[in-house]
Amino acid sequence: MNACFVTLTKIKYDKMFKAMNIDDMKGSNVKSVVETEKVKCLIVGSGPAGYTAAIYAARANLSPVMFEGLQPGGQLTTTTEVENFPGYPKGITGPEMMEELKAQAVRFGTDVRWGFATKVDFSGAVHKVWIDENKVIESEVVILATGATAKYLGIDDEQKYAGSGVSACATCDGFFYRGKDVAVVGGGDTAIEEAIYLAGLVNKVYLIVRRNELRASKVMQDRVLKVKNVEVLWEHQTKGLTGDGVVEGAILWKKKGTPEEEEVTIKIDGFFLAIGHKPNSDFVKDFIETDEVGYIKTIPGSSKTNVAGVFACGDVQDSIYRQAVTAAGSGCMAAIDAERYLSEKHSN
Ligand code: NAP
Repeated sequence: MNACFVTLTKIKYDKMFKAMNIDDMKGSNVKSVVETEKVKCLIVGSGPAGYTAAIYAARANLSPVMFEGLQPGGQLTTTTEVENFPGYPKGITGPEMMEELKAQAVRFGTDVRWGFATKVDFSGAVHKVWIDENKVIESEVVILATGATAKYLGIDDEQKYAGSGVSACATCDGFFYRGKDVAVVGGGDTAIEEAIYLAGLVNKVYLIVRRNELRASKVMQDRVLKVKNVEVLWEHQTKGLTGDGVVEGAILWKKKGTPEEEEVTIKIDGFFLAIGHKPNSDFVKDFIETDEVGYIKTIPGSSKTNVAGVFACGDVQDSIYRQAVTAAGSGCMAAIDAERYLSEKHSN
């Protein structure tokens, strides 16, 4: 999740909690304000997986209710051009595509709401999901489409300079670095995409790659290596950041752990992380099986989790493909699985 988004979300939630007088309720019986609502089909998360599940579920008369989560529209709202989603020969921006998917889900009757799931209870016949701590949704079926969130390196300086030069979203924050020098960490498609995007705005981009090759697809590799103001720093890792209040430079290790190891410093104003994502599954982990990274396990060839009536789709359960189109495909599977589950349950 990017810095500007976290800030906006925090402001939104501070305002919301203030309006609800949550602080005044502390010490009183806060449980009394938790309302319960029963729905037939609950969708948590709103990327391509969630919206596709919503389109299919709505058309199957499941009257889906969707909670959009902290990043309405999901990760694609922080990307620029999507060129590989079938049906858009000229490409489309991520935010536009998400608006169209949302409009399609709403057109068929999906009830799309602002709010995020904080905990669940999947122990009973009816599944319970807490939204924003003040509402419990009881649903016969739950479709988990909560996606994944940007990873950080885990060095102290990322926290120290958060919002002051450190970002995990070039599309959101690149504008602030026009004419300056920045670094992007990572060697996958996201890093390349961000480096190319930034190169169009800033003076120079250092691409910090920990190995001597890129993980990105061949077409993206070819593209970035042709951009004149992108310099790839092969076999470099980040030791720390420097600067008086804001990022002014980075200290890197070149060939760390080898006899040729050396320390390198670069002068930069912005430090962009693009090293992958963590699945957003923590809130279900007491009930839903995940792998060691946190990806929800589904029964192969289906969207079924270990709990009957709970289905997962999109990046929260996909450690391999992680594409918008595969997320959308798995959202379709989840809605069909949910519809079949309900038909069987009610025919008995
Ligand atoms: P990714 O493919 O997992 O790549 C992560 C990159 O970050 C790798 O180069 C990795 O290095 C590096 N990295 C990880 N941890 C690091 C650390 N601690 N220090 C330094 N470097 C580190 O993630 P992604 O680029 O976000 O892509 C995820 C998926 O989305 C992929 O399937 C990708 O194809 C897809 N995607 C597609 C598009 C597009 O088609 N337009 C755009 C974005 C993403 P190593 O290589 O050494 O492991």
